[in-house]
Amino acid sequence: MNDRAQDSEPIIRLEGVEKWFGKFQVLTDIDLTVAPGERIVVCGPSGSGKSTLIRCLNGLETVQKGRIVVDGIDLTGHKRNIDKVRAEVGMVFQQFNLFPHLTILQNCTLAPMRTRGISKEEAEATAMKYLTRVRIPDQAHKYPSQLSGGQQQRVAIARALCMTPRIMLFDEPTSALDPEMVKEVLDTMIGLAEEGMTMLCVTHEMGFARSVADRVIFMADGRIVEQAPPQQFFTAPQDPRTKTFLGQIL
Ligand code: ADP
Ligand code: MG
Repeated sequence: MNDRAQDSEPIIRLEGVEKWFGKFQVLTDIDLTVAPGERIVVCGPSGSGKSTLIRCLNGLETVQKGRIVVDGIDLTGHKRNIDKVRAEVGMVFQQFNLFPHLTILQNCTLAPMRTRGISKEEAEATAMKYLTRVRIPDQAHKYPSQLSGGQQQRVAIARALCMTPRIMLFDEPTSALDPEMVKEVLDTMIGLAEEGMTMLCVTHEMGFARSVADRVIFMADGRIVEQAPPQQFFTAPQDPRTKTFLGQIL
């Protein structure tokens, strides 16, 4: 964890979170704090609850027990806080989820114009700024289907950034990409990390975890089984399930 992380109030706090889908308990006894600027990688076997956990952080899922506070917004209790938290938390999914009938530029300006009430001119200027940052300003007037997967995912990142979030969540952002496009998306994420963005990334890109993460969290069966700085996580995993998992993917 970096110095900045140790000094400050957590930007994300989960206490005793439990979630069920019907009779199936998907999250058990989740305690987690994340400091501003911290970069966290979440990994673990398929079905261990990684997606559900990060979806809880922007109100895409509700929980039955425990407390979730994100950037001072309590997500357990008041439904009206959902809009508030979505303005602070950007999310990028495995499937890019761009609107196919809108241009790249329109994909990026829609939410800021609708939810922030800013003018088209201002929204477009902001969108071009972030499209430039992900190095595809020249694609602004194309449609998603005209772009490669890697380009579409970079648009998805730019679109999230257009809301000027304080936290970015990534759910296996490179898993649906052809191998040659993984690097361009990871490089974009590394850039964000270097700028101090608070990030939670579900990914099995262990090179990324090693070089970018302040902390790696390992989940199994809906629980956080182990968490450690990458150096320690990869060289001295404690739990047998972590060892098995690392043995399978490294
Ligand atoms: P991961 O992202 O680690 O693969 P998920 O959070 O997607 O895991 O899912 C954890 C478990 O919860 C899985 O067993 C999955 O089948 C189940 N699950 C996820 N979403 C739902 C849902 N909407 N309804 C019922 N079960 C679900
Ligand atoms: Mg998942």
